[in-house]
Amino acid sequence: MKLLIIGGVAGGATAAARARRLDEHAHIVLFERGEYISFANCGLPYYVGGIIPKRSDLLVTTPGALAERYNVDIRIFSEVTRIDRARKEVEVKNLRTGEVYRESYDRIILAPGAEPLKPPIPGIDLPRIFSLRNIPDSDRIAAVLAGQGRKSALIVGAGFISLEMTENLVRKGCSVTIVEMLDQVMGNLDYEMAAVIEEHLAEKGVVCKLGCTVTAFREKEGRILVSTDAAGELEADMVLVTVGVRPENRLAGEAGLEIGPSGGIRVDDTMRTSDPDIFAVGDAVEVKDAVTGSYGIVALAGPASKQGRIAADNAMGRTSVYRGGLGTFIAKVFDLSAAATGASEKRLRAHGIPCLVSYTHPWSHASYYPGAENMAIKLIFSPQDGRVLGAQIVGMDGVDKRIDVLACALKAGMTVYDLEELELAYAPPYSSAKDPVNIAGYAAANILKGDVEQIVWSELADLDPEKDVLIDLRNPPELPREGTIPGSLHIPLPELRSRLPELDRDKRYVPFCAAGLRSYIAHRVLVQHGFRSRSLAGGFRTFKGVKGRIEKTGALRGHDTE
Ligand SMILES: Cc1cc2nc3c(=O)[nH]c(=O)nc-3n(C[C@H](O)[C@H](O)[C@H](O)COP(=O)(O)OP(=O)(O)OC[C@H]3O[C@@H](n4cnc5c(N)ncnc54)[C@H](O)[C@@H]3O)c2cc1C
Repeated sequence: MKLLIIGGVAGGATAAARARRLDEHAHIVLFERGEYISFANCGLPYYVGGIIPKRSDLLVTTPGALAERYNVDIRIFSEVTRIDRARKEVEVKNLRTGEVYRESYDRIILAPGAEPLKPPIPGIDLPRIFSLRNIPDSDRIAAVLAGQGRKSALIVGAGFISLEMTENLVRKGCSVTIVEMLDQVMGNLDYEMAAVIEEHLAEKGVVCKLGCTVTAFREKEGRILVSTDAAGELEADMVLVTVGVRPENRLAGEAGLEIGPSGGIRVDDTMRTSDPDIFAVGDAVEVKDAVTGSYGIVALAGPASKQGRIAADNAMGRTSVYRGGLGTFIAKVFDLSAAATGASEKRLRAHGIPCLVSYTHPWSHASYYPGAENMAIKLIFSPQDGRVLGAQIVGMDGVDKRIDVLACALKAGMTVYDLEELELAYAPPYSSAKDPVNIAGYAAANILKGDVEQIVWSELADLDPEKDVLIDLRNPPELPREGTIPGSLHIPLPELRSRLPELDRDKRYVPFCAAGLRSYIAHRVLVQHGFRSRSLAGGFRTFKGVKGRIEKTGALRGHDTE
């Protein structure tokens, strides 16, 4: 067996190691265009920011170490330029010497990754306009930062790489402006969850120009002038373009392998392409979304590594299956962690898949133990059977373990009722007797069981001022600090029962509190006394982030705006 692996980072290096463990006698050759294999591209932002101090720390392994441990023939600076399927050979260019040669194969695993998208904006090729994919890219950015004086950076795009770079550039003393075409950061989160991150970025002095498109770049006295459609002309010492990636599909396409509509190489669940002897993995392939069933690119290291292992199994004669991706991710944005798994609400709606949502803001661990922080959890679930379809969490502490529990729940096909029952580890420094995941389960199950009827933030604009009355249940000291929703009646929860006679049975009440717990209690009181009520999901915390958008969309008609 002669196995050729093309691309030597997450997917390729994993495939090489796995293939060797399965077959001690195979001839395994790994081609990598660049100088490094198995480097930590996920660590690049932290290297730029100085958190990872040494460049060498990014090298998870070296060609020499991998070759020694796994007896793999590793060829760096070697670009595979063509696959000749008829002769079962590839053409390789040695980028150091210019030599071109052919190498035969029995099987190939393609792991060429994806390249940063470079939109056709005039001036995009100017020096000091960067993208970030590999170590040399980060060296170029670090070189600008090393120059004299405080630097300014403009980042085009607001995905997770952009936000990680923002934090690290600020850490290096840079002022950062983000320009994003969408009206939110982190487009794979739902709007109201992204709003929490936007607020935090503003607190950290980062300027976000949302709903704004860059139209041209120009150079002026060593600086970059950036023309935009909605924010006029901006100026920066350097520009970083992080607007997504494009699968490296040229080799596969020219070899006649099937390419999917998203540009990713089409593979079956064994990671086999349309040629039975060629497998493909990682950012270069299109994979099935385990929730929606649609195909798309998932440019994340975990899936790339898992697929590399699966492709190696199948290439070496074992049967191993990839059962689709959940797109589980987490990113650090200054003091916040933002994470998601499964489908977002907007994605489900785009696919016509019905869903319900719940919002909770539990403590990361027992509130009485020092250091507890609230996190915002959005759970997305099926109205039919309560199956978990997606989850998003933004918070300062404990986000990582909750998203991982929810990712497991999704993978296992659990329902919100299962989340209620999960028995998770508890002691005050770590969690509460009811873990945030349990609480998310309770809130969602309450909706399905009809114990609470809720209204979500996007429905606030539809309230009828003649019929609907918002009740702010928070205690007086909470109000001046936080403000309230315009037009609401103020009845602190402890007074609700005694003040029921003030309420009008012809009205529909919308109780809300800070996070949604007190409004649930109030809802139970109201309906059991014969009033119509819908609790505001997520309470004032969720409302605060989306207030601007609600106001823009015609907002709380008839209710006074502040
Ligand atoms: C800055 C940054 C931060 C990231 N952070 C995270 C994170 O925190 N979490 C996460 O899950 N993911 C993260 N990712 C994404 C993750 O790194 C990728 O999803 C993952 O590396 C994809 O693995 P891959 O093997 O498909 O491709 P890559 O890792 O991109 O490797 C492909 C390799 O193939 C080589 N190659 C391509 N064509 C050829 C050819 N014809 N011949 C020879 N060699 C070729 C390329 O030079 C490249 O080195 C990050 C990515 C970047 C850029």
